[in-house]
Amino acid sequence: MFAGLYLARAGARPLILERGAAVEERAAAVERYWQGGPLDENASVQFGEGGAGTFSDGKLTTRIGDPRCGFVLREFAAHGAPEDVMIRAKPHVGTDRLREVVKKIRQEILSLGGEVRFLTKAEDFEIAEGNIHAVIVSGERIPARQVILAAGHSARETFAMLKSKPLLMEAKPFSAGFRIEHLRADIDRAQYGEFAGHPALGAADYQLSAQIGGRCAYTFCMCPGGFVVPAENEEETIVTNGMSMHARNGMNSNAALVCSLSAEDFGGDPFRAMAFQEKTERLAFALGKGKAPAETVGAFLSGEKSGFGRVMPTYSRGVAETDLTALYPEEMTSVLRAGIHAFHNRIRCFDDPEAVLTGPETRTSSPVRIVRDGESLEAVGAAGLYPCGEGAGYAGGIMSAAADGLRCAEKVLEALMK
Ligand SMILES: Cc1cc2nc3c(=O)[nH]c(=O)nc-3n(C[C@H](O)[C@H](O)[C@H](O)COP(=O)(O)OP(=O)(O)OC[C@H]3O[C@@H](n4cnc5c(N)ncnc54)[C@H](O)[C@@H]3O)c2cc1C
Repeated sequence: MFAGLYLARAGARPLILERGAAVEERAAAVERYWQGGPLDENASVQFGEGGAGTFSDGKLTTRIGDPRCGFVLREFAAHGAPEDVMIRAKPHVGTDRLREVVKKIRQEILSLGGEVRFLTKAEDFEIAEGNIHAVIVSGERIPARQVILAAGHSARETFAMLKSKPLLMEAKPFSAGFRIEHLRADIDRAQYGEFAGHPALGAADYQLSAQIGGRCAYTFCMCPGGFVVPAENEEETIVTNGMSMHARNGMNSNAALVCSLSAEDFGGDPFRAMAFQEKTERLAFALGKGKAPAETVGAFLSGEKSGFGRVMPTYSRGVAETDLTALYPEEMTSVLRAGIHAFHNRIRCFDDPEAVLTGPETRTSSPVRIVRDGESLEAVGAAGLYPCGEGAGYAGGIMSAAADGLRCAEKVLEALMK
């Protein structure tokens, strides 16, 4: 989106190919799925206009320190996000407002002569003599010498297609674990004490990490007053993630609780890492018999089943109480357990036995990097192809993905001007 906006404003009339549906149709399909309806993989939490971040808390936080982030925040505000995203230390939009922003950015791109083709999947790339020449969609050949590939962390089919190309792909670190949910009031009290609930403060957040042997247990993508969402885009899988509305006033607060995984864990092979993700997601579906496997923190730590108590799981397609130690290798389970104990010292209620774990949280970032030249940002092996964003291994989050889109667009413009 941001690469398209930048190129459209420069008069380059970009053609954007999106395998998924426009945000309006997509939102309706995702709502139907969340209420128990059928999955439409091209109108899911992972695929469709606006990408993975559309059904999210819309946190616009990042640690990259790239000056382009100022532009990104201004454009979010200019296209309908709350103005305070430009001044808040921890800006967030909320999924309800993000959908409008996505639509308005598309409308500006179209008004400047750009084109967006929905339900149009890039199925193949024509690469010869070290250059990209065309993109193939549904058998149609689209000649192109400048192609930005920003397919996100869930584009497994596209990565499989790229495997046969003269490109360099490598495994990169990512993480996996669960979503942990506490009562929002408990987290607010733990963080704000007597000021918990003060309207000026809103729902409290947290970010925790602990080194456990050679791995790291940490929390991320925290959704204060949010929900655990069904983030599947493939049949017979379970994938969790989190989101909240701009008001952040849900009963629970949740975050991903994950264990770090290295490229070495998969022998440096990104496809083994993706296979691990997929195997875990399919195992979860089987363990939960189609529902999301979940249990209380108490049961996870003690191994004794307990049933759910004060904290009710929010995964809308239903959960099945399951022994979650069956989901991951023993080493990961012990790191996650040790993480919960460690975080209790930082947030008193973190190991609340009635808090709930739902999983698996496997799409934390992309396990693959498509190697690109550090200067031109072109793929090694295919000049004119710009691997971009989270899926290509150069971003993690909305802001860094948008900034990377701008970086690639600047390089495309330089190349066009030559
Ligand atoms: C539920 C959820 C909540 C999140 N919450 C936050 C948050 O609060 N804050 C934050 O910073 N980050 C959040 N993230 C992460 C953030 O969404 C991603 O880091 C960001 O969207 C990555 O942007 P991207 O453009 O690289 O890829 P994506 O956003 O994944 O976009 C990739 C796009 O490519 C399309 N595509 C894939 N393959 C093809 C193909 N072959 N042909 C054509 N189109 C294709 C997909 O349909 C998709 O629209 C969240 C993610 C999820 C899933």
